[in-house]
Amino acid sequence: MDIKILGYWGGYPSAGGATAGYLINTGEGQILLDCGSGVMSRLVQHTSVDKLDGVILSHLHYDHMADIGILQYAAVNAIRNGRMKKRLNLYTPDEPANILDTLYGDHSEIHRIDSGRIIRLAGADIEFVPVSHTVPCYAVKVTYQGKVLVYSGDTSYCDALVELARGADIFLCEATICEGSVHTTGAGHMNASQAGMIADQANVKRLVLVHLPGDGDLEFMRQSASEVFGGPVELPNTSVLYSV
Ligand SMILES: [Zn+2]
Ligand SMILES: [Zn+2]
Repeated sequence: MDIKILGYWGGYPSAGGATAGYLINTGEGQILLDCGSGVMSRLVQHTSVDKLDGVILSHLHYDHMADIGILQYAAVNAIRNGRMKKRLNLYTPDEPANILDTLYGDHSEIHRIDSGRIIRLAGADIEFVPVSHTVPCYAVKVTYQGKVLVYSGDTSYCDALVELARGADIFLCEATICEGSVHTTGAGHMNASQAGMIADQANVKRLVLVHLPGDGDLEFMRQSASEVFGGPVELPNTSVLYSV
């Protein structure tokens, strides 16, 4: 399976960038993981709404869903013009309820994420585990033909994430806190060392730091994670196609 990082900034984007958005292509279909600010304009460089088997929102914070309404407008158009035969499959936590309410419409089939249920999209098995954030948030594990991608969502250090990430071929883990950065209060987030610690304990094959602070020293963060995790640590690159 291939993963394209469409955006990786936490909270709000740096100039010309985008917040959380990850496009997964299994060869059988495509899944969009989070749909943050600036993600739509990047998404259409690679695909179109009618080709998405489903969209997963890890949680209902705007840096993970700012562009979902825009994607839904594109779905309205694709349905009206016959390019899209079914509604957009949207998987989301059911809280905060006032934000969930805004997602409903003729364009979308809303599925509430249930951590007890594995779903199948684009031929992949997808599993959800609740993590530790300021609103309900899920880490996501995508398994396709024995290869595993795990995405942390937004979270502080939590053992459930170690279990979910165990042995993953690629682990996209949030690292929002950085020494010297004033980007975040830190609540519900991790620093790069903690991301490295989870990668190490879970014995993942490859760690990519995401959800980065715009004022952070990214190379310092990469090194901090490397000191804890013995395997390769990468900063996200929107020009690279990550294959597992
Ligand atoms: Zn976030
Ligand atoms: Zn968040």
